Amino acid sequence: MIQIYIPLNFLGVVYREIKQSLTDLARMFTLMDTAREVRDAPGAQPLQGLRAPVVRFENVHFAYAADRPILRGVSFEIAAGTTVAVVGPSGAGKSTLARLLFRFYDVQQGRITIAGQDIRMVTQDSLRRAIGIVPQDTVLFNDTIAYNIAYGRTDATPEQVQQAARAAHIHDFIVSTPQGYEAMVGERGLKLSGGEKQRVAIARTLLKDPPVLVFDEATSALDSANERAIQAELRQVARGKTTLVIAHRLSTVVDAHEILVMDAGRIVERGTHAQLLAAQGRYAGMWALQRNMNENRL
Ligand code: ATP
Repeated sequence: MIQIYIPLNFLGVVYREIKQSLTDLARMFTLMDTAREVRDAPGAQPLQGLRAPVVRFENVHFAYAADRPILRGVSFEIAAGTTVAVVGPSGAGKSTLARLLFRFYDVQQGRITIAGQDIRMVTQDSLRRAIGIVPQDTVLFNDTIAYNIAYGRTDATPEQVQQAARAAHIHDFIVSTPQGYEAMVGERGLKLSGGEKQRVAIARTLLKDPPVLVFDEATSALDSANERAIQAELRQVARGKTTLVIAHRLSTVVDAHEILVMDAGRIVERGTHAQLLAAQGRYAGMWALQRNMNENRL
């Protein structure tokens, strides 16, 4: 009894952490089937029509605990190949949108569709293959850097791995280490900075080449040169893909096709950066505040 209890309990903890940090570990889900709350509907079909799919949230309501609603009727659409960014105070429900899109949880009212298909009616496997997540904190394995980049695409050739690493601007760093792509990552091996880890995540996503992307921007600030470089790389990866950006800094969202301002589980403003500044509402206030903070820091 105890022997069974301990590992399951441990898996439960790991599973919760993964759900929380939005780590892209589809394989781990397979291993953890027993711990799943969300299951394939009877007769679920693979997601179809994935060339530049439209993503829609339709009147989505969600609560982690019954007495505390987190999303209260959220509706928006990410048109094919465009980027929607979500901003708002901590706890507004931004990352929850991404967790629901990946179907870590099911909505309690309303629905989420990709290319017109309710995500509850498609196989989870096909759903998770269609969505690439660049998470806040990338989980790296005690294995080679090449393995870490190819994670999720075990069939990738060394050339493809290098090509992705080049595009994510981490190739030069890798080849500057004595063992290059065969260098072990981890406590006793190569230690990667926050920016380098994000680049590994970008390279992984490039290899996976999913039609839908979620960027969960890191809350911990990188230095500004690094941050600008990573943003440029993310823009590159997002080109032509249907993208949701969970933004913790406004500088990331300026170019988004639409910005959603969330507060307490509702969208309280929406528009482009220019439209929202002209409206002189919440977003404009946040923008002015952030600019002041940046100027004080200089
Ligand atoms: P931040 O900018 O700080 O990341 P956020 O807008 O992304 O915030 P969410 O992570 O979506 O916020 O969380 C919304 C609310 O849901 C928060 O109050 C949070 O405490 C709560 N919450 C998040 N995950 C869980 C969970 N697994 N169980 C219960 N409550 C949760």
